[in-house]
Amino acid sequence: MIPPHNIYIHVPFCISKCNYCAFFSRACENPDWHEYENNILREIAHWAQLLGRVHVPTVFFGGGTPSLMPVKTFENIMSALRNSFYVDSDCEITLESNPGTIDDEKMAGFIDAGMNRLSVGVQSLDDTKLQFLGRRHNARTALNLLNAAVARNIRVSADFIYGLPGDTVSDVIKLCGDINSLGLNHCSMYELTLEPGTPFANMQLQMPSNDEMADMYNAVGDNLSIPRYEVSNYAAPGNECKHNMNVWDGAPYVGIGRGAAGRVLIDDVWYEQLGGGVRFEKLSPGARAIERVITGLRMVRGVGLDKDVKKIINMDYVHAHGDLIRTTANNRLAATPRGMLVLDDIILNLVG
Ligand code: SF4
Repeated sequence: MIPPHNIYIHVPFCISKCNYCAFFSRACENPDWHEYENNILREIAHWAQLLGRVHVPTVFFGGGTPSLMPVKTFENIMSALRNSFYVDSDCEITLESNPGTIDDEKMAGFIDAGMNRLSVGVQSLDDTKLQFLGRRHNARTALNLLNAAVARNIRVSADFIYGLPGDTVSDVIKLCGDINSLGLNHCSMYELTLEPGTPFANMQLQMPSNDEMADMYNAVGDNLSIPRYEVSNYAAPGNECKHNMNVWDGAPYVGIGRGAAGRVLIDDVWYEQLGGGVRFEKLSPGARAIERVITGLRMVRGVGLDKDVKKIINMDYVHAHGDLIRTTANNRLAATPRGMLVLDDIILNLVG
């Protein structure tokens, strides 16, 4: 029997490229949505044939800028998913959005077609910083979108970036205060990193030191009114992103669209796949267990200690480093708050 599969659909278009962005996305004012939709529908048909009518607990439209998509395209993709799989009645259906690409009417259309969670790329509430990041919107547009989404009674999340050149702990504390006053139940807080090939990588920026970044990271955890549940994610209990939690926990998921990755489970065999049929290869239980440790330890609740994970974990390291990592009452292995700051080192020591 084939278990439920979460579904990630990649939308690779943006109005323009941000200065820090290394995501697979293309600046394109007028994408060929007809061609895009046909490709996605073809992939959905392929997976329906391979997996059968499996349950789908979550669908996540990520980008790029999925909110650029016409409502009709979204509707047709959702219809194809519903016709091909059992999309659960309480399925979490998330759409990533950028301010300025979605008005009230468009939001209503997405909601009518099933979207029940909107993730907004706010990034900053300071117009000078937004300009520096190469964003197309200002703080007012972002706040208007957040308020409009909250008024529609859907789940709302906002992404922010901190650790820009010149940022201090006080800046981060102020940002957290501003976010708290928005009353959000979920937000993602990302440290700015300089990725090769981006405009920022060639700009000789004076970035905060590792110690300053660590202080800012701790300040976020201490000053946001909602708790951290993953390295970069914060939510009021019960408002965590179900899609990401499932994926980090090691549940199967399908990636649809070029640039989307998935981990598919058929007859107890794991497969690594890339959207567009670019790759579909077997993954050994050991390799899959290592992936689960890497993603699972990013969550505050940690990784489940099932038999495959137990096989690859160096428990001597765990016993010797209780200040960094510990087993929990519900048979999980979790990093301590101190351990969260050195996760890469921990993982290297745990799985060699
Ligand atoms: S909107 Fe997001 S995906 Fe698009 S260029 Fe900016 S950071 Fe990259």
